[in-house]
Amino acid sequence: MNIKILTLFPEVIEAYTRASIMGRAQEKGLARIEAINFRDFAPGRHANVDDTPFGGGKGMVLLAEPLARAVRAVRKSEPVIYLSPKGRPLTHDLARSLSEEEGLIMVCGHYEGVDERFIQRYVDMEISIGDYVLSGGELGALVLTDAVTRLIPGVLSEGSLNEESFTRYLLEYPQYTKPRVFEGETVPEVLLNGNHRHIEDYRLEASVRMTLLKRPDLIEEGLRKKAFDSGTEDLISRLKKSLW
Ligand code: SAM
Repeated sequence: MNIKILTLFPEVIEAYTRASIMGRAQEKGLARIEAINFRDFAPGRHANVDDTPFGGGKGMVLLAEPLARAVRAVRKSEPVIYLSPKGRPLTHDLARSLSEEEGLIMVCGHYEGVDERFIQRYVDMEISIGDYVLSGGELGALVLTDAVTRLIPGVLSEGSLNEESFTRYLLEYPQYTKPRVFEGETVPEVLLNGNHRHIEDYRLEASVRMTLLKRPDLIEEGLRKKAFDSGTEDLISRLKKSLW
């Protein structure tokens, strides 16, 4: 997948995407993440990218023209996403469907945002990473790039996504590592006995229990979408009764 991020701060994007999973995905040739400074597409000696808002008001607004030129120069046929607090909330399902694209263009706003005409003419989807306002779209683009990249087949080792939070409308079960006893707290016995069937059962129950306590909305969504097998549905109703 080829991800192009249009930003005024390419160094911010580059620093993060060279590391960890995104760095490894690029080394393996499964992803290419490019930070493109859209100031390079601004005409004139001063390469101006912003101006005051029509109608008055505080702050500056990003000009449509440099962004439009940048998109026209780098776009093949991939969707253009504008990171915006007004966008559709980012979820696991949305990240998964975007991970199936061959490429993505992400546009990072700044100041008061972007001239609306650029959004109307060039943007396919606006995505928000939460109900709060950030100073720029870079963190949003990094969050989205990270969430999407780890879902590209081959980026993570096989099977490691299967039980991750959200994949099954459940949160992941609790994880433990050495030592066996930490400040008097011991690791659940079942994880030490080597019986894989028992470990699987324990983990599913722990996942359902944790989701019912922390994110019951996920369980309800899974039930609505008929995402659980009958055994998991029975477990859910049994644990619901015991918890409430
Ligand atoms: N004036 C805008 C408003 O009230 O809706 C906020 C502009 S914000 C200060 C500057 C840029 O940060 C936006 O253009 C957008 O690219 C990015 N941004 C801010 N909050 C975001 C969020 N929750 N999700 C994704 N991007 C966000």
